[in-house]
Amino acid sequence: MQWLGRRGSTNVEDRRGLSGGGIAAGGGIIGVIIYVLYTLLGGEADPSQMPISPGVQQAPMSTEEKKADDQRADFVKVVLADTEDVWNKIFADNGKKYTEPTLVLYRDAVASACGNTSSASGPFYCPEDSKLYIDLSFYQEMQDKLHAPGDFAMAYVVAHEVGHHIQKLNGVTQKIARIRQQASEAEANKYSVMLELQADFYAGVWAHYDQKMKNVLDAGDIDEALNAANAIGDDRLQKQATGTVVPDAFTHGTSQQRMYWFKKGYDTGDISQGDTFKEN
Ligand SMILES: [Zn+2]
Repeated sequence: MQWLGRRGSTNVEDRRGLSGGGIAAGGGIIGVIIYVLYTLLGGEADPSQMPISPGVQQAPMSTEEKKADDQRADFVKVVLADTEDVWNKIFADNGKKYTEPTLVLYRDAVASACGNTSSASGPFYCPEDSKLYIDLSFYQEMQDKLHAPGDFAMAYVVAHEVGHHIQKLNGVTQKIARIRQQASEAEANKYSVMLELQADFYAGVWAHYDQKMKNVLDAGDIDEALNAANAIGDDRLQKQATGTVVPDAFTHGTSQQRMYWFKKGYDTGDISQGDTFKEN
């Protein structure tokens, strides 16, 4: 993807420099005491400032690693800016107004309105605060462990999380959350899969318009995204982890499904064709 010198989004909270992604502002026990005092004194608890125990912390980065990390940060900012341009246009074309999400860059662990999360769980979107959370080391993980290299593989991940934001704006997230509460575990997992596949579809729609509006995709970019979709399908991840595949435990969809929906979004660019709930 051609991204150097292009606009980067300013809807970014960079918490990489903070210990634990900004969870314990004062650090460890001091942070806990400050927090307890604060809430005892009647302060409103801000989840983003809530302390958790100082957990896993990586060794400080070398100058080289920091440079690579900063470059990745610049890249995802450009991708986020592109999602803003595309979704602002699609929403406007449909007579609606798009509310842009915020991207939080963090390292190791982070507190969101959805709770405390370690980077081991990968990038995620929290509908409660409309923010995307990404630890950029996931890039490395995709490349080394999931065999999904390439800048557009990461662009796909960002676009997928933005896809969840679209679902929140459309009210799909809330609707499915209500349905899932009444459902059995297997049934609830099925709904999770449909949500995930729709986010993949929206990522494809974004790629379609990004190319149409800006002509910035390189040959091979779509293959990088498809390869990533293939690599992070539940069946593939499960097999890697346990050696077996249990369809009921799928929450993101199979590799085949993920590639299918991303490609459908990319080929059609038509948001009305993303009814994963009807088709799966
Ligand atoms: Zn997802």
